[in-house]
Amino acid sequence: MTTSHAVVVGGGIAGLAAAHALARDGVRVTVLEGSPQIGGKLRVSEIAGVPVDEGAESMLARRPEGMDLVRDLGRSADLVNPGTTSSAILSRGALRAIPSGQVMGVPSDLKALAASQVLSPAGLARVPLDLVLPETRRGGDVSVADFIGARVGREVVDRLVEPLLGGVYAGRVELLSFDATLPAVAAAARGHRSLINAVQGIRDAAPKDPGPVFATLPDGLGALPPLVADGIAAAGGTVRTGAMVRELRRREDGWRLTIGPTRDPEYLDADAVVVAVPAAPASRLLAQEAPAAARELAGIEYASMAIITLAYRATAFPRLPDGSGYLVPGVESDPARGGRGVKAVTFSSVKWPHLRDRDPGVIVVRCSIGRFGEEHTLQRPDEELTATAMAELAATCGATELPAETRVTRWGGGLPQYNVGHADRVAKVRAAVAGTPGLAVAGAAYDGLGIPACIASARAAATRVLDHLRSREGAGHDRAGGQAEGTRTQ
Ligand SMILES: Cc1cc2nc3c(=O)[nH]c(=O)nc-3n(C[C@H](O)[C@H](O)[C@H](O)COP(=O)(O)OP(=O)(O)OC[C@H]3O[C@@H](n4cnc5c(N)ncnc54)[C@H](O)[C@@H]3O)c2cc1C
Repeated sequence: MTTSHAVVVGGGIAGLAAAHALARDGVRVTVLEGSPQIGGKLRVSEIAGVPVDEGAESMLARRPEGMDLVRDLGRSADLVNPGTTSSAILSRGALRAIPSGQVMGVPSDLKALAASQVLSPAGLARVPLDLVLPETRRGGDVSVADFIGARVGREVVDRLVEPLLGGVYAGRVELLSFDATLPAVAAAARGHRSLINAVQGIRDAAPKDPGPVFATLPDGLGALPPLVADGIAAAGGTVRTGAMVRELRRREDGWRLTIGPTRDPEYLDADAVVVAVPAAPASRLLAQEAPAAARELAGIEYASMAIITLAYRATAFPRLPDGSGYLVPGVESDPARGGRGVKAVTFSSVKWPHLRDRDPGVIVVRCSIGRFGEEHTLQRPDEELTATAMAELAATCGATELPAETRVTRWGGGLPQYNVGHADRVAKVRAAVAGTPGLAVAGAAYDGLGIPACIASARAAATRVLDHLRSREGAGHDRAGGQAEGTRTQ
C-alpha cells in the first residue's frame, strides 16, 4: 500500500498484533522490543520436560479477537481447550465448588449459593436483602466492594467476587472500579434495582451452548508471540529485540525514536508510532509530545505477583485433583490472618489434558502469590516462595512428596489496576493521543487486560495509524523509505 514506515514500541501481544495488522495492510513496520525476548507476559518454558506457560496460559475463546489472530496465522486447528473448567474456592477451611448462576462471583441462584457453603450462615442470610433494598444510587464510578457489598453483603465480596477478580487483576476490591472491572454487571445493574436480578438477566441473555470458554496452544500460549512475529516477517516487517526505546519526539514530518543506551544512542525515524508498553514506560515516552496523556498514565498502578510452577510425580497426589484448580480469597490466604499466602492454584495437567498426555507420570501445578499492596510477600527468596506453594498443596491435596522440579517466575508490576475512575483516565489519555497525529497507544493498560482485549486495542491502534498514513499520502507526504533510519551517532 505504502512506503510509509510505522514503528511499534513494545513486543508484547498488543505490539505484535498491531504490527501484524499494519504489515498485512502493506505498511513497512518495525517492532522495537526492549528486552531480549518478545512476548511480554506471554512466555513458555519447559519444566520436567513439559512446556508450561510462565505467564498467561489461556485466552478467552468467546471473544473473537484472539481466535481471529490465530486463524489469520493459519493455526486455528492447533488450538486446544481445557479438559475441565470446574474450579473451587477455598472458603471457611474447605475447598468448595464455585456456585452455579454467578457472574464474576455475583450470585443469581440463591439455592446454588447455599448449597456451595462458600458463605457463612450469616453471610448467606444477608444476600436476599438485595431483593428488597431500595436502589443503590451512584453518580459516577464506585468501587467493586462499595457497590456489591451494599447490595448483597460484604461476604459475597470477600469470598466470591474478590477471589474471582483477583485471578485477573490481583487487585483490591476496595479500589477496583465497578464500571471498568465488571462492565457487564455494572451496565446491567443500572437497569435493575436488584443486583441479583441484574445478574439473572445477564445469565438469561447468554447463549445456551456458547462453546468452550478458553483456548491455548499445545506448546503453551507463549508459543503465540513467535508465530505472530513470523507473520510480521512474512509480510515484510521487522521485529527487533534488545531495542529499548528511550525517547519519542515529533519532527516536522513524522517521528524520531531514540533507542539504546545514552552512551551509544540509535535513531530511527517513522511516519507513525504505536506505543504498546505498560503505563509507566508509556508515560515516560509520551512526556514530551503528549504530556496530558503521560500524566494520566503515570497514575495507573500495577500489582506484582509470582507464579510458582511445581512438577510432581503423579504418585505424589493421593488422588488426582479434580477440577482445574481453586482460588483463595484474601480473607483466607492473608498470612496476617493465619493464611498460607497462595491466592490461586491451577492443576495444569488436569485443566489441559494435552500436558498430561506429554507425560502422564508428571502432574504440573501453578500457584500464584502476590496481590496489589502485598509486594513485601514477594521480597523473599525463590526457595521460600516454593516452600509456601508446597505447603499449600500438602494442606489441600495431601501432596507431601517433594516436587521433581520447580520454577519461580516473578512478574514485577505485571498487572494494571483498573481502580475507580479508570475509564475517565483512559478517556483523557485517548483524547490527548487523538490530538497528536501519527500516534496511537495499545495494550493492557487501557480497555481490558485479557489477551483478546489487548489485541482489540492493537487493532484499533493499527486502524488509527493506517488512517493517518492514508491521509498523509493523500496530501502528498509519502517519502521514499524514510530518512535517517537506523542511524547511530558516531
Ligand atoms: C502472570 C500473568 C498471568 C496472566 N494470565 C492471563 C491469561 O491466562 N489470560 C489472559 O487473557 N491474560 C492473562 N494475563 C494478562 C495478559 O497476559 C497481559 O495483560 C497481556 O499479555 C499484556 O500484553 P501487552 O502487550 O499489553 O503488554 P506486555 O506483555 O507487558 O508487553 C509490553 C512489552 O513492551 C516492552 N517494553 C516496555 N518498555 C519498552 C520500551 N521503552 N522500549 C521497547 N520495549 C519496551 C516490554 O519488555 C514488553 O515485552 C496474565 C498476566 C500475567 C502477568
